[in-house]
Amino acid sequence: MGLKLFNTLTRSVQDFVPLDPAGKKVGMYCCGPTVYDFAHIGNWRTFVFGDLVRRTLEFEGYEVRHVMNITDVDDKIIRRVGQENKTLEDFTRPYEAAFREDLQTLNCRLPTEMPRATAHIKEIQELISSLLERGIAYRAPDGSVYFSIQRYRESGGVYGRLVRLNFEAMRAGERVQSDEYEKEAIADFALWKARVPEDGAVFWPSPWGEGRPGWHIECSAMSMALLGATFDLHLGGEDLMFPHHEDEIAQSEGAGRQAQGQPFVRYWLHGAHLLVESRKMSKSLGNFFTLRDLLAKGYSGREIRSLLLSAHYRETFNFTLKGLQGARASLQRLDECLLRLGELAAGSQAAPDLDLETRVRRALEDDLNISAAWACVFDWVSEKNRQMAENRLKPAAAAAALAGWDRVDSVFGIGRPREEEAPAEILALLEARQAARTAKDFKRADALRDELKAKGWAIEDTPKGARVKKL
Ligand SMILES: [Zn+2]
Repeated sequence: MGLKLFNTLTRSVQDFVPLDPAGKKVGMYCCGPTVYDFAHIGNWRTFVFGDLVRRTLEFEGYEVRHVMNITDVDDKIIRRVGQENKTLEDFTRPYEAAFREDLQTLNCRLPTEMPRATAHIKEIQELISSLLERGIAYRAPDGSVYFSIQRYRESGGVYGRLVRLNFEAMRAGERVQSDEYEKEAIADFALWKARVPEDGAVFWPSPWGEGRPGWHIECSAMSMALLGATFDLHLGGEDLMFPHHEDEIAQSEGAGRQAQGQPFVRYWLHGAHLLVESRKMSKSLGNFFTLRDLLAKGYSGREIRSLLLSAHYRETFNFTLKGLQGARASLQRLDECLLRLGELAAGSQAAPDLDLETRVRRALEDDLNISAAWACVFDWVSEKNRQMAENRLKPAAAAAALAGWDRVDSVFGIGRPREEEAPAEILALLEARQAARTAKDFKRADALRDELKAKGWAIEDTPKGARVKKL
């Protein structure tokens, strides 16, 4: 059947055909985090959705160049840098590192490249220069540079590709300085923001005076620098559709770098919102969670991932703690089946049973219908459980079923059940015990072994090193 995706540009489900004439390579850009805090669970829904697109493309045999930017300069960051009296780098880097850690906790494949906005000031300025040369951007009296929507439209550009806009209400030359403005506010937006005292030490020289880039231009400059003037897929949460993505199209196509008749991006994919406990997430309602908050409540990355991946990406999803309990129970059911298949297979090898893969592929190719794909998995679990209960499954068939699971798991990213994961505190004790042994401090090593035992964990020395096992 081939992969079909809902393209926001055409508002329809389309066959996915990559730009690469060989039909192999795919360029994909996902708007990444603004590193001024830990990403919250609503952000994570979007990033896990990006991972699903990436994994599905790879499952379909494509070679994906996945770019995700790191926004390490913007209004919010500058405010916090001022409050905390740090350098931009000292303030943003720990959040960037935390973001990478969180990606791994959720078992998201790491993007091929994660460019920082501050490392691409040159490309950003070149893009702004092109827009000025073409008369689509202009300098404001304060030294900032703005994108002119009117002149873009006069030059043949279409503003309003992803959303329908009401131009009647627009007043020519009305400007917004803020990166995040309201829907319907069709106004010229800042490409380069002239330095103001509140910016502190955060500014760069430019042909238009000292200042810093606007947020929208960062993504246009970095995506085209790394993926070319036209590329296959651009992803983000639906909240970015306007103004951010609309502005990205206007800037990128306004600079006229694309070949005749080619757009900036061929397929735009948007993930729907996430509600938490049926309401919009907010700190005052007590339903605001970062990934770390949920880990602290005792949920695993695997459980959180599977819940975030349970609904179709275009449906608003209600994330609840009850849902996490449900995800835990579903994973237990899957794990029990996989463990029993493993016992039955007992080391026998077999080519994968492709039945499950065929069903899962059909669901995913239908605009990433992940809920239907999960249903295939749980039907398969019931079927295997029944076959095992009736002693109808031979070891080779169990091995084939497990190999089949591994193949579809390249998309789910859930893995096979592992022995119970030890908490960080236990792993730290294990490490300390290893260090004591290396230092030949056997007394301390024994004391640490006893401490672990008192906490309910035994040490097993294996040829691959020591590990802990729950008593
Ligand atoms: Zn972006």
